[in-house]
Amino acid sequence: KSGFVAIVGRPNVGKSTLLNRIVGQKIAIMSDKAQTTRNKIQGVYTTPDAQIIFIDTPGIHKPKHRLGDFMVETAYSALKEVDAVLFMISADEKRGRGDDFIMERLKTNETPVFLVINKIDKVHPDDLLGIIEDYTSQMEFAEVVPISATEGNNFETLMTTLIAQM
Ligand code: GDP
Ligand code: MG
Repeated sequence: KSGFVAIVGRPNVGKSTLLNRIVGQKIAIMSDKAQTTRNKIQGVYTTPDAQIIFIDTPGIHKPKHRLGDFMVETAYSALKEVDAVLFMISADEKRGRGDDFIMERLKTNETPVFLVINKIDKVHPDDLLGIIEDYTSQMEFAEVVPISATEGNNFETLMTTLIAQM
């Protein structure tokens, strides 16, 4: 089995951290600043019977000017070419306009979208249900997977779920 997976989400939710864990080495640039990495950074996850190529898409956000517009369109067009999209949110932050903007765009896409709730190490387990309800009321997700990219919680589950989708 093989396929392409794009990781999207607003800045600082942990996309680069997850990608670093996937490839097992620090190749994605981690930064608190949006758009430090304009190019797609690809990582490969390989098991004996599966290979998944990951694409970090830092260009996906609400554009502020026309050049931004063009870059955002380019970033979104990449989402049509992948087999699955990981929409990552942070469990310790409220759903905001950045999240809603991304979901509006993901809704019109045929590609299956996984809701990845990151940073579960920062919240009480009881808070998860409310977060899941909040997002699943906005759009349909192929799967919902709570993880901690730094601690590694549910990492294997996320990979297994993705491979099952391919
Ligand atoms: P990106 O902008 O989406 O690529 O986010 P980064 O991967 O650069 O992460 C932003 C910040 O969140 C960094 O300081 C990370 O160490 C932190 N972070 C990422 N994942 C987790 C997590 O699962 N738990 C906690 N506590 N912090 C995280
Ligand atoms: Mg990043």
